[in-house]
Amino acid sequence: MGNVGAKEVPVLLSPDGRRIDGRKLDELREIRIRAGALHQADGSAFVEWGANKVMAAVYGPREVHPRHLQQNDKAVIQCRYNMAAFSVDERKRPGLDRRSQEISKVIAEAFESVVFAEEYPRTSIDIYIEVLQANAGTRCAGLVAASVALADAGIPMVDLLPAVAVGKIGGAIALDLKKEEDNFGEADLPMALVPQSGRLVLLQMEGHMTEAELAESLDLGVKGCRDIYEKMKQALRERYALRPSDRGAA
Ligand code: ADP
Repeated sequence: MGNVGAKEVPVLLSPDGRRIDGRKLDELREIRIRAGALHQADGSAFVEWGANKVMAAVYGPREVHPRHLQQNDKAVIQCRYNMAAFSVDERKRPGLDRRSQEISKVIAEAFESVVFAEEYPRTSIDIYIEVLQANAGTRCAGLVAASVALADAGIPMVDLLPAVAVGKIGGAIALDLKKEEDNFGEADLPMALVPQSGRLVLLQMEGHMTEAELAESLDLGVKGCRDIYEKMKQALRERYALRPSDRGAA
């Protein structure tokens, strides 16, 4: 049978340490963040990160639906992460599959660590993340977009939540995997950081790496998160300092 049906594995790392898109191992893809991209939501943000395009909208604090989820001592944080049918090469079956449910859950739990939910008992803070175009790292792009959207909605938080995936490709640890690196690499490790405290509030791993590689990955990821954090703050500064007229229209 030989190679029948086998996918050709691309060379992920050149001999001089360059990746398939020319990046160095510790280099992020280009990131653009726009706070307040939608006018109907209480807060919103649009993130273009490499070939990812992700919109986040936030509503709340508002009445809880469904009512039985209401909590008397704090706001409930609900998240719906969704990938559009046209967001990937092969048309994705629309709707909430297991992967979307898992990502929605881990993102909601990450925000429970930073939102001052006890200030809004018996309410809901609803986060919608729509992935319009996907190229690996969409849960991280979703976290970044949702953080900026929450801040844009004026929801009090300890801090924003920058996030990035680190992984192992061609035997080396690399920052911010793109699709081919995620598919054909040896490991993928998305994480989200509370920059002020240095605490990680999301950490997942697929694949294999050694303890030393894990330590190196965490270091690289934390540095990446701190760079993304600056871009997130800049997006909020642009929204509120340079474009005050948008605020009125929102
Ligand atoms: P993340 O997007 O957070 O990296 P995964 O590691 O699960 O999450 O997915 C990696 C990438 O694989 C996605 O960003 C997307 O490009 C692609 N992908 C995920 N689910 C599907 C699907 N159902 N159909 C086609 N491509 C998908």
